[in-house]
Amino acid sequence: MPHDTHDHPHALLPPDPALRVRALETILTEKGLIDPAALDEIIDTYEHKIGPQNGAKVVAKMWTDPAFREAMLTDPMPLLDEMGFYGRQGEHMVIVENTPQVHNVVVCTLCSCYPWPLLGIPPGWYKSDAYRARVVREPRAVLAEFGVTVPADKKVRVWDSTAEIRYLVVPERPAGTEGMTVAELEKLVSRNSMIGTALATEPTT
Ligand code: FE
Repeated sequence: MPHDTHDHPHALLPPDPALRVRALETILTEKGLIDPAALDEIIDTYEHKIGPQNGAKVVAKMWTDPAFREAMLTDPMPLLDEMGFYGRQGEHMVIVENTPQVHNVVVCTLCSCYPWPLLGIPPGWYKSDAYRARVVREPRAVLAEFGVTVPADKKVRVWDSTAEIRYLVVPERPAGTEGMTVAELEKLVSRNSMIGTALATEPTT
């Protein structure tokens, strides 16, 4: 299976991506190939029902449930299926855990492969040429630009996504969160922390 469809600039279509999408939607609708209502439904699903809140649920549960954590690190798909976080662009997940020794960060160097069922739609920077090229060559510099300074004695591991395998980073659980509920912990887990370009949010005291 190939990677996600890449951009192929076409002379007949407007240069602006939004206009291009609009033009394509119009053509496909006129030809009866798509139903605009079905398209709206898909967009609504990814905007409101699927997003980083799903990934955050997984992370907070891993932080608080050692058996679940162990299972997620070894064989996540049955559990993700059970939680309802299975679907397109997330059929084969690998969960990578940050530790005091290792910081993980995810990229798709070829295009923009991303774990949709857990994180929703990828942010613009994730799809940018600069991020995709630079995070592999100089991950520490790129992470610093995101505000994440990785100590010299900590390893940085970069995971390159493919159409088959998508990665989710489990950020380290911040100190001072021992008494927090799972629901409170979920709020500390941002989208970027699950890509590896942020840490989990420190609890406010
Ligand atoms: Fe890709």
